[in-house]
Amino acid sequence: RAKEEGRDNYKFFTMDMNKSISRKMALENGLRKALKNNEFVLNYQPQVSLQTGEIVGVEALLRWNTMEAGMVSPNQFIPVAEESGLIIPIGEWVLKSACMQGKAWHDNGQSALKIAVNLSPVQFLHENLVEMVIKALKTSGFNPNYLELEITEGVAFTDAEAAIKKMQTLRDLGVRISIDDFGTGYSSLMYLKRFPINTLKIPKPFIQDIMGGQKDKALVETIIYIGHSLGLSVIAEGIESNDQLLFLREHHCDVVQGDLYSKPLTVMQVSALIENKTPAKIS
Ligand code: C2E
Ligand code: MG
Ligand code: MG
Ligand code: MG
Repeated sequence: RAKEEGRDNYKFFTMDMNKSISRKMALENGLRKALKNNEFVLNYQPQVSLQTGEIVGVEALLRWNTMEAGMVSPNQFIPVAEESGLIIPIGEWVLKSACMQGKAWHDNGQSALKIAVNLSPVQFLHENLVEMVIKALKTSGFNPNYLELEITEGVAFTDAEAAIKKMQTLRDLGVRISIDDFGTGYSSLMYLKRFPINTLKIPKPFIQDIMGGQKDKALVETIIYIGHSLGLSVIAEGIESNDQLLFLREHHCDVVQGDLYSKPLTVMQVSALIENKTPAKIS
């Protein structure tokens, strides 16, 4: 029977699958080497307050600097890292590096700067997550109140109670939590009410469609309204135009992040920007 199954499977093992499987394996090996050889870097994208025009935070965004293919986007390798479990050591590196950089900026006088770090659902659900966060905070000496962990609604899909409990444990450390890409995943307003979170992030596609029509405007307005009703801060992501900015300002969005103000930057570029106190384009 095993033989038959084998033969059946073989039939379905098309050229395309062959290609994608070997591509995945190559990526996985590459990621493993990247960790060993320090090929990962973090870029940081400024988050600007609409009230003060100041940079109030930065989001750490992972970059893989490969010898063969140059910079590889996280959208390409995060899924493979998640499937292979490599997201755990990679995510640990991200957390530690971001906290160390945050500490360096704070020591350099930017003592109110928040650092946002993306957590993959795989990472969030991992049993050692809380220990990893504690360890990153301890080794870096970074003030937990300025670390904002970005999670997605999906983490509450299988076990909402456990997810809420874990969020609370993180909050008890002093860490902040935001919901990334709010409204694109498993959203239950019932749970949202109970999430011990600080911030909602409006996803890029919603922002990019704002000028497209009444429905998209209504959607963004509603997210801002829901966030504020629950006492949360609201960050809009992917702002590229002044029209979008005007709309968000008019509807009292708290913070914006996007290419209009700045693309993700290197550590040196961020340092120059915050030290110069160049007045933000947005104010
Ligand atoms: P995200 O967390 O929603 O991050 C925002 C993405 O939108 C970033 O893409 C950012 O560069 C991009 N972006 C921001 N403003 C604009 C804009 O005005 N226009 C356009 N076209 N794009 C803009 P990026 O850096 O490619 O990251 C993609 C996704 O990969 C992130 O989405 C996040 O989910 C994931 N990711 C990035 N770094 C990490 C990480 O360290 N750990 C984990 N687990 N995931 C990460
Ligand atoms: Mg994010
Ligand atoms: Mg994200
Ligand atoms: Mg997002």
